[in-house]
Amino acid sequence: METEPGARHAMSIDVEEFFQVWALRNHYARADWDRLPSRVVESTDRLLELMGATGTHATFFTLGWVAERHPDLIRRIVAEGHELASHGYDHQLVREMSEQAFREDLMRSKDLLEQAGKVEVTGYRAPNFSIDSSTPWAYEALLDAGYRYSSSSHPVANDHYGDVRGERHPHRRDGIVELPVTVLPVGGRNLPCAGGGYFRILPYRWTRFALARTVREPGARTMFYLHPWEVDPGQPRPDRLEFKTRIRHYTRLSKCASMLKDLMQRFTWDRIDRVYARELGR
Ligand SMILES: [Zn+2]
Repeated sequence: METEPGARHAMSIDVEEFFQVWALRNHYARADWDRLPSRVVESTDRLLELMGATGTHATFFTLGWVAERHPDLIRRIVAEGHELASHGYDHQLVREMSEQAFREDLMRSKDLLEQAGKVEVTGYRAPNFSIDSSTPWAYEALLDAGYRYSSSSHPVANDHYGDVRGERHPHRRDGIVELPVTVLPVGGRNLPCAGGGYFRILPYRWTRFALARTVREPGARTMFYLHPWEVDPGQPRPDRLEFKTRIRHYTRLSKCASMLKDLMQRFTWDRIDRVYARELGR
């Protein structure tokens, strides 16, 4: 039972096209993005509808690239009471950018989102949680660009991202509050339990169990995340996919929306800036 006042579960959505997913980069070339069928508006609207139906508010980490092409979608996200935040300009990994390129990416995405949404953007999530020990300048760059918090770490063992030794609680780095995606420590290992591919691949009841378990700790909050393409079973599928990518990207796409709806009804969710208001000093 949740006994503390206010929502303790933060819902977050990383708004990007299905073809911008890092694991599919060998199948969809960056140069082809503007020629591929855009599905981000339709799939994000599906999430907005689910949230409207369940009275849920969330934080939308959105690409500047999406804001540039679909400003109406950005306005809708804001008008429906959600928090607008940045997922970078075009989903380049932070660890593959120079410090200067990262600083430009942060400012460009913030400007595009703020122009479209007419609200201040203070949250950031690195594509594929790609802030790590090879990017020691990342938090100072975030602070300089006017951000206040980041949710760019997922402390699990994963071949694409994550640092299994990473801090799992909110913490401050170079003036920025880092809010990691929730993991459940079991037997000295951090187990994933709060979204992305794991939400679809692992049994749904595991997510429910782990989120409820996490907030048994006094003051604990949870950070969950998902993508619009995860509620879009009709998205095109490239030929000759590697086995792991097929499992990771396409498992239970058709069930995801109903699992998410159940999750939204079972727990009380809110946007990050409210769930973590204490950590953010608001
Ligand atoms: Zn992403």
